[in-house]
Amino acid sequence: MTYKLLAIVAVEPAHRIRCQQPHCGHSVYARIHIVEEAGQLIVLGSDCFAKRYGVGSASNFSGFGGGGGRPLTHAERELLLNNTAALLAQFEKERAIEQERAAAEREALRQRHAEQQQRLARLVQFVSSDQLRVPEHSISEVVATPPVLPVPSWAELKKPKSSFFAYCMEEDQFWVLMQSATHDGCFIAPAPTAFESWDEALPPSLGTVDVTRNVYISHMNINDLIAWFSSRCRKGSRIDSDAVAIHQFTLRDSH
Ligand SMILES: [Zn+2]
Repeated sequence: MTYKLLAIVAVEPAHRIRCQQPHCGHSVYARIHIVEEAGQLIVLGSDCFAKRYGVGSASNFSGFGGGGGRPLTHAERELLLNNTAALLAQFEKERAIEQERAAAEREALRQRHAEQQQRLARLVQFVSSDQLRVPEHSISEVVATPPVLPVPSWAELKKPKSSFFAYCMEEDQFWVLMQSATHDGCFIAPAPTAFESWDEALPPSLGTVDVTRNVYISHMNINDLIAWFSSRCRKGSRIDSDAVAIHQFTLRDSH
């Protein structure tokens, strides 16, 4: 028997509909089959569909619904009962809209991909061209932005991987202690620069004056020096391994 399965639909169990297979008399709500046969539309339960045509429905079915059947709204159920052809027309319209939407989505995807390719091509061109050279005005901007402090000369006397200890003493005199990179002891530097009478400011027991490098050369242990300075310091101290940070601290309010 020639037939065409057009749709598989479902309705709420409370609003089940009558199977149109002669002498069946059952009401069905899930997997309702809409079939076109000899120019007529028939609505069948899944069992009657299988009996009438001798096949299971779901295999290679490409119409509307499928699986448990497309659930119908109340209005669609009324259409199914009163005007099955109109319901199918509505399905057809929905399918066309869905196909249009899918096509639009594919097109958008294709465009995005093309744009990405273009951006990538421009990037490759940029990297391989001399445009990568930073324009000169932006270099001067970068350089000008953070004020560059000259690193004080005492900075290079410090033992690597150790810290500077800066103290602000009476009369706003700053001193920077550091372990020595060159001898078994420390340096004590007046900061931010060698101020007036710096070479007479500390007792000789702390170290000897080196006028060429503007530091005291001390043979004391760093901890003993820290103890000496911190017990006399009333105006703040700073520990940092960064000479610039220490230098900034000593520039704080020295005159
Ligand atoms: Zn039936």
